[in-house]
Amino acid sequence: MESAFIQWLRSQVPPDPRVPLGIGDDAAVLDLPPGRQWVVTTDMVMDGVDFILGEHALPLVGRKSLAVNLSDLAAMGAQPAACFVSIAVPRQGGGELARGIYEGIFQLARQFDTALAGGDTNSWDGKLAISVTAVGHVAAGKAWRRSGARAGDFILVTGDFGGSILGKHLDFTPRIAEARWLVDHADIRAAIDVSDGLSLDLARLCQESRCGAVLDRAAVPIAAAATELAAREGNQTTPLDHALGDGEDFELILAVDPAEAQRLLSLQPLGVPLTRIGQFIEQPGLWTLAADGTQIPLSPRGYEHRFDA
Ligand SMILES: [Mg+2]
Repeated sequence: MESAFIQWLRSQVPPDPRVPLGIGDDAAVLDLPPGRQWVVTTDMVMDGVDFILGEHALPLVGRKSLAVNLSDLAAMGAQPAACFVSIAVPRQGGGELARGIYEGIFQLARQFDTALAGGDTNSWDGKLAISVTAVGHVAAGKAWRRSGARAGDFILVTGDFGGSILGKHLDFTPRIAEARWLVDHADIRAAIDVSDGLSLDLARLCQESRCGAVLDRAAVPIAAAATELAAREGNQTTPLDHALGDGEDFELILAVDPAEAQRLLSLQPLGVPLTRIGQFIEQPGLWTLAADGTQIPLSPRGYEHRFDA
């Protein structure tokens, strides 16, 4: 990386007690608070897939690259500590691109008290790609997993779903504050964040928990953007279709024991609405109820990266 760029980067990063050694050495050194475990996640966003260069503002692109990682930390019940940012920029105008991207990263990192502790900036003849690794911590043994749901638990979700392509996929709020409140004040059995689609990510949680779920379709909180998108498509699709399959909502799906769930639903402690959208059951698979109350299968839908095996 060009040394003037590293100097600029270092000048933007305030000292942080959690990072005794950060940008400028061969590797970073992080302090882990006593009794805690590290939670580490990594996610890459790419021009043409997760954003479109020239169409989306650079700070928003940078913001998204960190926000998707913070959403994963939230889904583990982790408190963010540090992040590492690797950028591959096209040679032409690469420095300006990188600075624009970092502007969005710095802003979100400040908002969620996350230190920039290192990274790498390379140039090449390919498209812009940004890989962020985020590091957080949890009380030892207390990370939320996908595998903890039990038959009978209620399915709770934060926020609303669908139509994120109209804007939310770039400016969503990772549910860090909500997760931290729940870690301190509630009993959460399992969690996942919705990156690829409400129904798809719910199916993934069910698979890891070796159970199934009955979804109450009428209870799914539908974003205004989902309704707008369905209308724009001449009502070929319904707002519920978008809510169940669009992805990039970055809300949380939580498995919660019924009594605890009732308490949280009446308390509504998060600032963002908490909604019950169904219940976990023993029978594997995703289901919904027909008008006569019979259980009918629901195909999980969402976004999956496809490549040859
Ligand atoms: Mg995730």
